[in-house]
Amino acid sequence: MAKYIFIAGGVMSGIGKGVATSSIGRILKSKGFNVTAIKIDPYINVDAGTMNPTEHGEVFVLDDGYETDQDMGNYERFLDETLPSINYMTTGRVYQEVIRRERNLEYKGKNVEVVPDIPLEVIRRIKEAEKNANADIVIIEIGGTIGEYQNVIFLEATRMLKHQHPHDVAVVMLSYVPIPNNIGEMKTKPTQYASRELNSTGLQADVILARATVPLDQKRKEKIALFCNILPERVISAPDVQSIYDVPLNFEKDGLGYILCDVLGLEQRPTDLKEWEAFAAKTKNGNQKLNIAVVGKYFMSGDYVLSDVYISVIEALKHAAAHNDVGVKLSYLDSEEYEKDPAKLEELRQYHGILVPGGFGSRGVEGIIKAIQFVRENKIPYFGLCYGMQLQCIEFARNVAGIPDAHTAEIKPDAKNTVIDIMPDQKEKIARGEYGATMRLGAYPCKLRENTIARMAYDNKEEVSERHRHRYEVNPNAIAKLTEAGLVFSGVSPDEKLMEIAELPLAAHPFMLGTQFHPEFKSRPLQPHPLFSAFVKAAAKK
Ligand code: GLN
Repeated sequence: MAKYIFIAGGVMSGIGKGVATSSIGRILKSKGFNVTAIKIDPYINVDAGTMNPTEHGEVFVLDDGYETDQDMGNYERFLDETLPSINYMTTGRVYQEVIRRERNLEYKGKNVEVVPDIPLEVIRRIKEAEKNANADIVIIEIGGTIGEYQNVIFLEATRMLKHQHPHDVAVVMLSYVPIPNNIGEMKTKPTQYASRELNSTGLQADVILARATVPLDQKRKEKIALFCNILPERVISAPDVQSIYDVPLNFEKDGLGYILCDVLGLEQRPTDLKEWEAFAAKTKNGNQKLNIAVVGKYFMSGDYVLSDVYISVIEALKHAAAHNDVGVKLSYLDSEEYEKDPAKLEELRQYHGILVPGGFGSRGVEGIIKAIQFVRENKIPYFGLCYGMQLQCIEFARNVAGIPDAHTAEIKPDAKNTVIDIMPDQKEKIARGEYGATMRLGAYPCKLRENTIARMAYDNKEEVSERHRHRYEVNPNAIAKLTEAGLVFSGVSPDEKLMEIAELPLAAHPFMLGTQFHPEFKSRPLQPHPLFSAFVKAAAKK
């Protein structure tokens, strides 16, 4: 049987529970344990696919097509494991399953109750994920904050599992220790309250990770230990760090791996984070900084930039940059500016590369198309992801292939030249109003054409597998015209019906490539994605 580590957040959200969970996973994996990680989100939404990215952040897509929270991406990156959908659950998903079973008479006529049937389903899913991964250790992150009504049921599942297996469950509380400006002192009281609130659910933290802007001093550690009822050495300092990839290294400084093994009665083994440390150091590479601009629309919320929306893209760029021994500085450019004032496009010249990420809808699209035209004509390296590839095809159709009214059916369904059109099966789903989990989702094979930039980037592989999330595709009846005008579809579905990669040959442009899939989902710190690497190389050349 596996050991379980539950991670719950105290005081407030947004302090890095996902990264903390992932880091614990990395530490334990580097001790040679088989580790898997589960995210529990307290939403009614059955998956993250129907949530607005400006509210919820990036929608991360798993190989099997489940649309999840961005933390799943962190787990995959830190653990270097491909996780299945059983490793993600929301309140909605859990209830959906319990109700489905009740309808099928699987509870054999008994009353089905919120307690214990909902926590029992949570535990069943945890054990299924454990079995599936053949895990020695399962790490479970409980979304939200202790004290919230929403996640009580998941804390109850934790309590029930601990009651069944008292020596196999560890509870970690990630808390926040503020230093109010006007006081100038680190205050532990919110952590004490969070700890008591946790106690009221029948749980006691075994370890407290104390997030703060600076490291904890011994006095604060002792205070937290005394009032939260744990050993002082089990209060771990978690100060702000320059890179999220430093977090496992920092935790190890405080002996977190040793402590968790101690709590769980696991054999003590050395931690080998050498490769990780070398990578983390490279992410801070200051020698050559590439200026990469991400052009899109989901950037601002009030006065704040929402970079969370593109977290996998940003991390994939960091991985590729580190492996190519360069640093990367990202700028977010709002494409609507180019619609208002095309002269602004000139600013694109100062960048080593331009990336257009995935997206939906009409806002800012004409501005993006203008930007794509500018980088094509001025030979600035371009990388388009999903919508970025579709808009690249539209730009090419309008300005090179002689289809000036080329458009996407997503914006203009009745346009004459929908160079990007809705996939036939998608049309039916939309007509029936079925939006949840109905896009073309998850991993599909992609065949690579010989002598192309894509094929070279992928080490001359004939076929690769990449993750998707889209409803629209390159219109089959536009392919010939685009190809004749010089666009190369270097990646296609095995039946050659769906265009997966569009590129310009090297003779025409140093790097102009777009993918219908989302390569960013498969980039890993120690294994950067080949196309991101190729883009970074081209940008470095510029
Ligand atoms: N909106 C486009 C589509 O649905 C692109 C989706 C995306 O970029 N993820 O096909």
